[in-house]
Amino acid sequence: MGMTSQRVRDRLIDRLRAGTPHSAGIRDERVLNAIRTVPRHLFVDEALATRAYEDTALPIGRGQTISQPWVVARMTEALFSEGREPRRVLEVGTGSGYQATILAALGLQVHTVERIGELLRVARKRFRSLGLDIRSKHDDGRIGWPENGPYDGILVTAGAPALVDPLTEQLAPGGVLVAPVGGGSAQSLLCVAKREDGTLEQSEIASVVFVPLLSGLVD
Ligand code: SAH
Repeated sequence: MGMTSQRVRDRLIDRLRAGTPHSAGIRDERVLNAIRTVPRHLFVDEALATRAYEDTALPIGRGQTISQPWVVARMTEALFSEGREPRRVLEVGTGSGYQATILAALGLQVHTVERIGELLRVARKRFRSLGLDIRSKHDDGRIGWPENGPYDGILVTAGAPALVDPLTEQLAPGGVLVAPVGGGSAQSLLCVAKREDGTLEQSEIASVVFVPLLSGLVD
């Protein structure tokens, strides 16, 4: 498996660090290190394993995708921005389980919600075989997971026309929510910081393309 070797993975890290004219270089060494250590090829079908260390989204079945490594890195980096030291985080859209695994590799207490039962079952198998303690739930993530909140960080990994109120409500003061927001085929990746007095401050990180945030549960 030369295409999944450490050398191939290190090349991805070099690319993320350098950035491109359209995507800022990733600076947080902890984030780069998590991406270096987590074997992304275990989160896609074997037939796609040789492409797992390209900086690109890949299909994971049911019309969904594992996010592009740069997007995963940038969203994760935002959680640690301005000296934040998050502990408890929520992800909406487990998908392959890759983003959740990156968060767990950073020592965070991870909660993740997925609406497609089949994808969640496969992701849970990966968490188990990697020995990860990640809490997951089959549910519509637009309601968040209030029982375990508030969260120091929330990552939404599917695009919606607007921010979802229950999620900003479950954000702890000092925390950030990172979500792709926009009506068309592309979205703005927004970083929403909750200040200590509860007010929200928005900034745009990048222009991104995510699969849509949908309502309801399916098996
Ligand atoms: N974070 C994932 C990316 C998966 S793509 C990874 O690392 O692989 C986005 C995922 O969000 C899909 O699996 C999709 O089924 C899920 N999703 C879409 N709407 C959702 C909702 N309302 N609640 C929970 N999951 C949702």
